[in-house]
Amino acid sequence: MKKDILSYDLEELCNEMELLGEKKFRGKQVYEWLHTKRVHYFSNMSNISSSLRTKLDDEYYINSLKIVRKLESSLDNTVKYLYELIDGNHIESVLMEYKHGNSLCISTQVGCKMGCQFCASTIAGFKRHLTPSEMLLQVYEAERDSGKHVDSIVLMGIGEPLDNFDNVVKFLRILSFETGKNLSLRHVSLSTCGLVDKIYELAEYRFGLTLSISLHAVTDEKRSEIMPVNKKYNIAALLQACRDYIDKTGRRISFEYAVIHGVNDTQADADGLIRLLKGINCHVNLIPVNEIKERDYRSDKNALHAFAATLEKGGLNATIRRTLGADIDAACGQLRREYEV
Ligand code: SAH
Repeated sequence: MKKDILSYDLEELCNEMELLGEKKFRGKQVYEWLHTKRVHYFSNMSNISSSLRTKLDDEYYINSLKIVRKLESSLDNTVKYLYELIDGNHIESVLMEYKHGNSLCISTQVGCKMGCQFCASTIAGFKRHLTPSEMLLQVYEAERDSGKHVDSIVLMGIGEPLDNFDNVVKFLRILSFETGKNLSLRHVSLSTCGLVDKIYELAEYRFGLTLSISLHAVTDEKRSEIMPVNKKYNIAALLQACRDYIDKTGRRISFEYAVIHGVNDTQADADGLIRLLKGINCHVNLIPVNEIKERDYRSDKNALHAFAATLEKGGLNATIRRTLGADIDAACGQLRREYEV
């Protein structure tokens, strides 16, 4: 079986060249073609000898994604891509324009096994992990198609990034490497439902990225009801891992809280959140829950604003997330669901 050449970091690619009986530095040249010039065919690598190009073609493939649907918001220039992977599976990315630049939300798995009740990505279950190349190509394809420069990346699309830990770490390495996209990890956010052991592991890498924790409830009873992962790693264990992460990396954590009317938006919930996060260097993002057709969760404007006001009075740093792409169902997992059903 041919090997996925876009998933190697530079060091690995240089080692591969040695295995092919080539000089190591060829790895650098090939890497530039793949990640800077982003060619789709070995035959385009014009400073590589034709014998090496043939060898590369025999042993490796250059992965690709096909844009099968593209939805453009008429409200705010948000673009949602539905990509087809080479095995026929589908994933989504969303390109958003902010004042500070363009941000791309990417998927890390095909489907998800985490089972969060309000999330469309998990309803049909988990199919497989994405490879590093499939994560990178979401960025490369969005840039190629839109002609825009992606300034920041959020790992908040379909899937649980920390459940695909090794591939995500490799992706981050390639993404931030000076040859290629060269994106500082300060411009990357990684969102997790709370895989505690992996949060400890991630802290050891001391990446500059922003860790986002999907909290969504302030009692174990409520959180376990809407997020099954809480039965394995409860709130206390999760917050302990967060404190450790902040200590080790010096980075502030962002807590995501999808505000769902009648589920987690009472004054008692807001007070609970203040109590839980007291003393933790963090920011809270309140997200009016996106309605998905499989569930009847919705948000209530008044309750949401009262919730935000209580947090502010309590000294928590909180903002209500602006909704982008409201007319194109930009919430994660929704387009893939429509397409696959
Ligand atoms: N698995 C990761 C990342 C993907 S989900 C995680 O759980 O964090 C990205 C974010 O969108 C998470 O905060 C998730 O809880 C949130 N989310 C999922 N469905 C949502 C919905 N219907 N409305 C609002 N936020 C939602």
